[in-house]
Amino acid sequence: MAGPLKTIALLGATGSIGGSTLDVVARHPGRFRIGALSAHSRVDELLALCARFRPDAAVVADPAGYGALRDGLQALGLPTRALAGPAALDEVAADPANDTVVAAIVGAAGVASTLAAARAGKRLLLANKESVVLAGDLLMQAAREGGATLLPVDSEHNAIFQCLPADGSRQGVRRLLLTASGGPFRGRDRASLAGVTPDQACAHPNWSMGRKISVDSATLMNKGLEVIEARHLFGLPPEAIEVVVHPQSVIHSLVDYIDGSVLAQLGNPDMRTALAHGLAWPERIDSGVAPLDLAALARFDFQRPDTDAFPCLALAYAALAAGRGATAVLNAANEVAVSAFLQGRLGFLGIPALIQASLDALPGGPSESLDDLLALDADARRLAGTLLPTVAAP
Ligand code: NAD
Ligand code: MG
Repeated sequence: MAGPLKTIALLGATGSIGGSTLDVVARHPGRFRIGALSAHSRVDELLALCARFRPDAAVVADPAGYGALRDGLQALGLPTRALAGPAALDEVAADPANDTVVAAIVGAAGVASTLAAARAGKRLLLANKESVVLAGDLLMQAAREGGATLLPVDSEHNAIFQCLPADGSRQGVRRLLLTASGGPFRGRDRASLAGVTPDQACAHPNWSMGRKISVDSATLMNKGLEVIEARHLFGLPPEAIEVVVHPQSVIHSLVDYIDGSVLAQLGNPDMRTALAHGLAWPERIDSGVAPLDLAALARFDFQRPDTDAFPCLALAYAALAAGRGATAVLNAANEVAVSAFLQGRLGFLGIPALIQASLDALPGGPSESLDDLLALDADARRLAGTLLPTVAAP
């Protein structure tokens, strides 16, 4: 039996992870209900989701959307409360009415609500990797103190979570092996990447995702962010976290033990598997994902990452080693660079160049509290904006 009904606050409901979450939730009406939904600014999409899932609260993060949300909910005859602004995200994340929070906002904009859910002791399904990169120490501390259950839904971290000892220890673990697809430009050399367009960068061979993470996958920064994420979530040193390119994206990651055993989690590349795992853990539920057909796949390939063509992975390891808030600078500069690239104001090779220039000029800073980190994040964004013209050759 499914146990008591779980009530879910889904932050970032209109995104790719948001949609996959709702797909799984809709398959299990006796097990889950939606307590809250949020969107950045697309009120019409949020209203359509409210009509379907009838949450207690709906949040539009952009305060300008409040009137349209309130009036739209009223016009639909829904009892859903309309809320607006970033503080409302924290409010629903900590609301005692919701026992589960899915952190599916993209970027550092998700950090405060993710921390609020951790402090409030929620079952916290973590997709928003940027908040771990920005504030991983604080997040882990908040989860410990708040009694939260952190369930990674980034597919690699979900795989590692499934392959680690079930008692929560790291006994006998030698290395974590994060798999990377290599993205749409795998196999290309640096010079050939100069003129690639945002649409080419977002055409991921295996996964359908939001545009920011798609560009991160094309630069390999996604894997860099995931190394930092793994460092915080699993507490192993950076030298015990390795990346291997696996173009098929079927082995989602592996754990290497000292006796020579290597455990892997496999599945079709569909985020509903990790989301269903996090929603129901420690039980298993149907996710809607098709069974894996190994004979049809026929083969698995592996390669070392090419850090010459894709320097972002090395930049992430360097920021992790540097400490003192360097990963916050890395993340902020990357968010500025990816946004400029998507707007046609920066070339693809300008992305690592801008991050490198930002880290050279601002190697870190105080990073003890969330205020410290948010100040560093803001400084790094300003700096990256100033440096943009010096590296920008679209
Ligand atoms: P997306 O762009 O499709 O959706 C992002 C969501 O965040 C939307 O609902 C949007 O309204 C909301 N949002 C954006 N900016 C906001 C802001 N300033 N304030 C409040 N809300 C805001 O992104 P996605 O692909 O669903 O990714 C979400 C997160 O999950 C990212 O951190 C990404 O790295 C991570 N992730 C995604 C995938 C995937 O397959 N898509 C896999 C692993 C991890
Ligand atoms: Mg991932």
